[in-house]
Amino acid sequence: QDLNAKEVEEAQESLIRYCGEFSSFIAEKAFGSYIYNKKGDAILDFTSGQMCSVFGHNHPKFVEILEKSGDKAIHLLSSILSPPVIELAKKLTGKLPDSLSKCIFLNTGSESNEVAIRMAKLVTGGFEIIGFSGSWHGMTAGAQSYTYSKTRKGYGPAMSGSLMIPAPYEYRCPIAHCKGSCDHTCLEVGMKMADQQSVGEYAALIAEPLLSAAGMIELKPDYVKRLKELCEERGLLLIFDEAQTALGRLGTTFAFEQYDVVPDFLTLSKTLGGGLPLAAMVTTAEIEEECHKRGFVYVTSHVSDPFCASFGSAAFDILDKEQLAKNALEKGKYLKQQLLQLHEKYECIGDVRGSGLLLGVEIVKDRETKIPDDDLGQKICSRCLELGLNMNIVRMKGYGSVFRIAPPLTISKKEIDLGIAILDEAIRDCTK
Ligand code: PMP
Repeated sequence: QDLNAKEVEEAQESLIRYCGEFSSFIAEKAFGSYIYNKKGDAILDFTSGQMCSVFGHNHPKFVEILEKSGDKAIHLLSSILSPPVIELAKKLTGKLPDSLSKCIFLNTGSESNEVAIRMAKLVTGGFEIIGFSGSWHGMTAGAQSYTYSKTRKGYGPAMSGSLMIPAPYEYRCPIAHCKGSCDHTCLEVGMKMADQQSVGEYAALIAEPLLSAAGMIELKPDYVKRLKELCEERGLLLIFDEAQTALGRLGTTFAFEQYDVVPDFLTLSKTLGGGLPLAAMVTTAEIEEECHKRGFVYVTSHVSDPFCASFGSAAFDILDKEQLAKNALEKGKYLKQQLLQLHEKYECIGDVRGSGLLLGVEIVKDRETKIPDDDLGQKICSRCLELGLNMNIVRMKGYGSVFRIAPPLTISKKEIDLGIAILDEAIRDCTK
């Protein structure tokens, strides 16, 4: 690929280096599973942008909305409603269990979680929030407080009342108890430890159905069932953060459909706008009513913006029409099989996990010791880019290298084969 390291270096003279290092690929166009530079060189996108472009880049339906937007309202005073917002609210709640009947539309995942937390605090009267260690719920100060600790260093204390429990990381049991499959002891122990730290003012527990930043760790149905019981015993409201998992990625419209559990709050973002900044938070009529009585307010500049909402409506239409949840399941199964073949071939692949089209590949120094190999992970990622594949690593230096493989749900078998061939070549090049 024609990488643009020099141009990137020049751009850095006027840009804040907000993500450590910029990619050396400068994107000009994007369509489907590919991103193109000025010269027309393509890279295959195994990250769906920032896990948002689930329908591929620049889906024709989205482009049509853009082209036809004409004089339609883009942005309004937050108290003024519009047809796209009204339509999306009906569409979204219509797809959810009866209890989840009230929603609000925002821009980012961080905000969607902030709203859920604010409502949980107001309605319970508590302030303590439990999160899973290593998880990611956003960059705002509140969302950071129950997020991956590495990005909190240097910014003072987290919000008071934030408690962490260990993620059920089967590959490396966080309490050195299980060998292989998780028997939930980490959950029981984690909750007891949270109880010991709690001052008795619990509000909520926040979880992703698949803990992505924590290393692509799935929460299995029986684990979630027990989690819900433990929450109910303590008066903790349950928030599912489906920023990455909703809109078909795990094979169902919402990942929680695969559980026998309905959360008190559901937060959606990334995938909902298919590339545009759109997020939502959905809760029950009882919680909404109680919060309203207590003077609940959540007004950000772009709450209920009509333009982004029109993308949300289109997103559900595309998902249904193109049966993309089904495709995620089928293609995910195929992709995982191919990754497992690479696991057979290369000692440095310690584990392959995940479900649907949200998969993780963990890179280790050796399988016996399971010591993470950050440098090799980085090297493979960079080599993939040179060969034409965009990949990313979920954990930062010192925390191990886990590739997050999250291509658009529209991906074809041929594109998967190409991605796997590049990954194979990159691993071979970096390990010989
Ligand atoms: N929740 C999860 C699970 C996420 O992955 C992210 C973003 N990485 C967020 C919340 C925050 O979303 P945003 O960056 O849109 O604020």
